[in-house]
Amino acid sequence: MQISVLGATGSIGQSTLDLVRQHPEQFLVRGLTAHQDVEGMLALIRTHRPALVAMADPQAAAALQAACRSAGFLNTEVLAGEDGLRAVAADPQTERVVAGIVGVAGLSSVWAAVTAGKTILLANKEALVCAGALLVDQARRCAATILPIDSEHNAMFQCLGADYRCFERPAGVQGLVLTASGGPFRTWAAADIDKADVAAAIAHPNWVMGRKISVDSASLANKGLEFIEAHWLFAMPADQIQVVVHPQSLIHSMVAFDDGSTLAQLGSPDMRTPIAHALAWPKRITAGVPALRWNQISRLDFEQPDLSKFPALAMAQSALASGPAATTIFNAANEQAVAQFLEGGMAFGMIPKAISETLSGLSHRFSPPSSLEEVFEIDRQARAYCGQRLKEALAR
Ligand code: NAD
Ligand code: MG
Repeated sequence: MQISVLGATGSIGQSTLDLVRQHPEQFLVRGLTAHQDVEGMLALIRTHRPALVAMADPQAAAALQAACRSAGFLNTEVLAGEDGLRAVAADPQTERVVAGIVGVAGLSSVWAAVTAGKTILLANKEALVCAGALLVDQARRCAATILPIDSEHNAMFQCLGADYRCFERPAGVQGLVLTASGGPFRTWAAADIDKADVAAAIAHPNWVMGRKISVDSASLANKGLEFIEAHWLFAMPADQIQVVVHPQSLIHSMVAFDDGSTLAQLGSPDMRTPIAHALAWPKRITAGVPALRWNQISRLDFEQPDLSKFPALAMAQSALASGPAATTIFNAANEQAVAQFLEGGMAFGMIPKAISETLSGLSHRFSPPSSLEEVFEIDRQARAYCGQRLKEALAR
């Protein structure tokens, strides 16, 4: 099977390519994309010899092209910019596309893959959060198949059974139970969370991930994004999705059925398991992840999320209730605030404050977006607004 990986140099990309290396007889890398890491991409080209690569940054694309020539990789075509990403996503010979770009930056390539009717392994939850209704319609129109690889959604997808397809309302289901690790600040006092720095925020207790999603996990904004993602993927009303904190991250999520059964998917916190499930779907392959060892596990704990300490989760839920413009604003403000937090010099507590101010300052200005262009315009304005609020707050 020929696969393309969008965001190949990132954490999801690396886990995917590790699986490809484990199963060289089953998977062939057709296309790869990255933002600007020329050395990282060159190393991947050396290993996988893809026919197509794209760098979002045009200067990086030019540098990569030159590096490929001097290294003798003459069969790899190097594309540049958003058009290049979209060309890899929609490439006719690609059978499965792994959407592993972080943030709304991944939306236009996900859209291109959907429009080309691909089978898409979706990690890029921000695409669904920003453009859920539009993507669902487009996927139906273009007969695209979405296989969730965000671990929670992959877990629910597994629990829904072999015949289930995303975007259908699942029959006989009472609700979804979205589990959350609680992140590195689960047991911290609110005042300490407020002052936390970057090193503390990205030190996730169970998962090794990119920096942005690690910060989102610390604020529970990630669980808010995943709540919205679950709503769209499984056509599930918000009042039938509950969030439960489960600090061991062994249960990756659950589905409660009408007859009183609850099914859960369990495994080590290793993204290779959900990615392997979706790469091989509907079959199973090995992932290099051992099954849980029940002689080493003595308890599974659960608690309710503390929305006063982690207000970003509640904000995402109320944005979903307000409608698609609000979820786009929520995501944009979060991306902007997290990017500034990661640059340094800003306290962690400013992230939810900035999201809240952006939502209340902008939500009434927009009606639900009816095109991708409108989504990008809302995103642009919300980033600018949030950036300005943060600048003012930091100047005080
Ligand atoms: P990462 O930061 O490790 O990697 C991001 C990738 O996107 C890199 O290849 C980078 O080159 C590319 N990228 C970044 N900005 C870009 C831009 N402007 N244009 C084009 N490409 C760009 O991120 P990650 O942790 O792998 O997360 C990727 C996505 O998967 C996110 O949406 C995240 O929420 C989701 N996800 C990640 C994990 C995980 O374990 N890492 C788990 C579940 C879901
Ligand atoms: Mg997740």
